[in-house]
Amino acid sequence: SYRKGGYHAVRVGDQFAGGRYIAQRKLGWGQFSTVWLAYDTRTSTYVALKIQKSAAQFAQAALHEISVLSSIADADPSNSKCVVHLIDHFKHTGPNGQHLCMVLEFLGDSLLRLVRHTRYKGLPLNKVREICKCILIGLDYLHRELGIIHTDLKPENILLFSSIDASKDPVRSGLSPILERPEGNPTSGVTSLIEKRLKRRARRAVAKISEKRDSMGGAGEAQKSERNVEGIDVRCKIVDFGNACWTDKRIAEEIQTRHYRAPEVILQAGYSFSVDMWSFACTAFELATGDMMFTPKGGQEFSEDEDHLAMMMELLGKMPRRVAICGARSKDYFDRHGDLKRIRRLKFWPLDKLLIDRYKFSGNDARELSDFLLPLLDFAPENRPTAQQCLQHPWISGKDSTPREKRNEASVEKGHVGMSNLRIKVGK
Ligand code: ADP
Ligand code: MG
Repeated sequence: SYRKGGYHAVRVGDQFAGGRYIAQRKLGWGQFSTVWLAYDTRTSTYVALKIQKSAAQFAQAALHEISVLSSIADADPSNSKCVVHLIDHFKHTGPNGQHLCMVLEFLGDSLLRLVRHTRYKGLPLNKVREICKCILIGLDYLHRELGIIHTDLKPENILLFSSIDASKDPVRSGLSPILERPEGNPTSGVTSLIEKRLKRRARRAVAKISEKRDSMGGAGEAQKSERNVEGIDVRCKIVDFGNACWTDKRIAEEIQTRHYRAPEVILQAGYSFSVDMWSFACTAFELATGDMMFTPKGGQEFSEDEDHLAMMMELLGKMPRRVAICGARSKDYFDRHGDLKRIRRLKFWPLDKLLIDRYKFSGNDARELSDFLLPLLDFAPENRPTAQQCLQHPWISGKDSTPREKRNEASVEKGHVGMSNLRIKVGK
């Protein structure tokens, strides 16, 4: 990928934008770009420098991302909305062509790495709640104030950030104390003296990080890593606006990463902000349990899409016929009765039962979490609550006006209705 049209090879100590930014170490990379920690000599802070591949289609994508990020930053001058902030952008010419570069505020590790850190056991529910609140603040801002759909919300695209100002001190900020460094990065090989010195400094930084990690119990068993997570002030921001779109200018038909994809996208029935709410619910489930909510696999008899739809129904009940048959691709999966064509026997396992049986949640935790998540997983997109409404939900706001007995009655009733419905359908 380090060839004409591809990535720009960066060496530690390389200068950008006429010497303003100095590359420190690689933070990550994606299909389109490599991302480097850089020192901003003008403001004496650390920033994330995203360097796009140079070919025309990547430049085009970067221009789009810059325009989305600019509108996000313009409408939030105080940078309080849980969405990554664009600081600057410029062009950089190298041996492989001209690369668009974005200067972003420097953030920490992704929620995917945080979940991995719990050995896929899931985070304590109070942490899940804190993280959900941040994501919802970000989504509410994007949706309601800017009319932007993210279209690729998932744990990988939500990065931690610390209350200690990371841009001043990336080591002490505790942004990465719990996690290993990224694996499998494309690298560039040349070593100079200055690079060696900077590398040594980077190694010391990493050593400090692992020291801190060990003292926090990161090497211990699951319980220890939970305690470890317990100590973190968890705040986060939404990143990666490469696929985001304005609701009145939708570009792609097929959006979202497979596991976080909403049913209306699979059926090609049109989409709106509510696709992000679906992905948000999948993300929250993953944070709480350590498992992805849906992991469809294609088989000889059926496609990955059909398996995905079947899994959704096994967890959430049957899709209403009205919804099932309304997409351009509905006929590929559903018969005219609204039943799947190739997967006839569904094994229903409602969310609250799943949380109790497989993930050993207490009855109360299971009910509260599924009461929060189920409306977001409504097959009819227009019924899903908005981010703004979710922020008012007692599970997030912590304010519950309903008396306790009433609450229990309501959720028990809901659970029973759901389950008896499902049993009738199993028998069918
Ligand atoms: P792409 O569009 O190429 O997928 P992303 O925006 O997803 O690029 O960034 C690639 C990786 O770089 C991310 O997964 C993350 O590890 C890292 N990264 C991106 N932005 C930041 C940031 N602001 N701070 C720290 N790391 C970042
Ligand atoms: Mg990405």
